[in-house]
Amino acid sequence: MLNAYAVNTLIYDPALCNGCALCVAVCPHAVFEMDGRKAVLVRPSACMECGACQKNCIMNAIAVESGVGCASAMIRAALTGKKEVSCDC
Ligand code: SF4
Ligand code: SF4
Repeated sequence: MLNAYAVNTLIYDPALCNGCALCVAVCPHAVFEMDGRKAVLVRPSACMECGACQKNCIMNAIAVESGVGCASAMIRAALTGKKEVSCDC
């Protein structure tokens, strides 16, 4: 597991990555990029903990405590009554 960045709860295990690139597609802050057939954390400190990457990673290579760092997601969660929402920032 890779979590050398003590600024948020994002944890990524590249050993589990199958290269689907969904995390790259859904991340609103370009935290991941593809390097060949593996996702790479390129801007980990930019993660706002929206949870979109974790939800879309079928390999469970990503863990993040969503909703704790993104104001937009927290507001949407409060308005919709849902526990987990993706941010739109
Ligand atoms: S969504 Fe998961 S399996 Fe797909 S590229 Fe990202 S980390 Fe790898
Ligand atoms: S939790 Fe959201 S902001 Fe953070 S890496 Fe995943 S998709 Fe990007």
